[in-house]
Amino acid sequence: MNAARSVKIGILGAAGRMGQMIAREILGRQYAGAELGAAVDGKDSWALGRDLGEVLGFGPSGVTVSTDAAKAFEDCDVLIDFTTPEATMAHAALAYESGRAYVVGTTGLGQMEEAGVIAAAQRAPVLQSANMSVGVNVLLALVAQVAEKLDDKYDIEIFEAHHRQKIDAPSGTALALGHAAAAARGTTLDAAMVAARFGQIGARIPGSIGISVFRGGDVIGDHTVTFAGAGERLELTHKASDRGLFARGAVKAALWLHDKPIGRYTMRDVIGI
Ligand code: NAD
Repeated sequence: MNAARSVKIGILGAAGRMGQMIAREILGRQYAGAELGAAVDGKDSWALGRDLGEVLGFGPSGVTVSTDAAKAFEDCDVLIDFTTPEATMAHAALAYESGRAYVVGTTGLGQMEEAGVIAAAQRAPVLQSANMSVGVNVLLALVAQVAEKLDDKYDIEIFEAHHRQKIDAPSGTALALGHAAAAARGTTLDAAMVAARFGQIGARIPGSIGISVFRGGDVIGDHTVTFAGAGERLELTHKASDRGLFARGAVKAALWLHDKPIGRYTMRDVIGI
């Protein structure tokens, strides 16, 4: 029998904050059986034409940063995408065409881009998670449980904080927490969400789910879900203090996904909750 071949992982958005972290995880040989297979970045990227290993101080890796996502889908066993919604839309189409395993971490997807990812999962194993951390995925389960246990006399408010460079709001994680709470209350986030408050807005709408957003500094990601009742508040909080957390989760997800059957998966499948 042949020795198990290592899993070739391609990074889409390789020169970005998350892409670099993911590359470091793989090149640092933190994972037995994982190998960097391709590095793709945007057409204006500072890293194009450069060896990703050299850029990150690991020495030559043989993987040059390019814009050729189609070739990355051909060459790799699994692709990890931390880019922009537009880029993710194009990458989802490549996953559909190639059937290659595809991990989506990009947030802020609109309806069209979400539909592209869902379509890809008809022809490829696709794992999408707005937050690849174990803690946040446990939080999602806890929020659903508490929202169900405490009736709608407990108002649900979600607060999230992120660094000044983040381009989408509310965060994908805040929305995921909102979806979990709404589903547990037998409604949808679209129906229940109040995402902005300003001026003479009147009393709080019963059953609504408020989401408020902070942007500033280098906050990696804080999320608090508050259940506010008469005479008490229950707060569930998660604080990310190391972006490597998401990168480790993404690589773990890729290694888990690469040989799974066609279909849609989330980080909760990887963690087993
Ligand atoms: P970033 O701006 O630092 O990196 C994005 C990278 O994508 C850039 O290098 C850019 O050049 C590249 N890019 C743009 N267009 C491209 C294209 N067509 N093809 C290939 N690459 C392209 O952003 P970031 O902080 O790394 O975050 C990226 C995304 O990941 C955001 O949506 C962010 O919210 C999300 N994110 C998700 C998690 C999670 O756990 N799921 C965690 C952190 C960030």
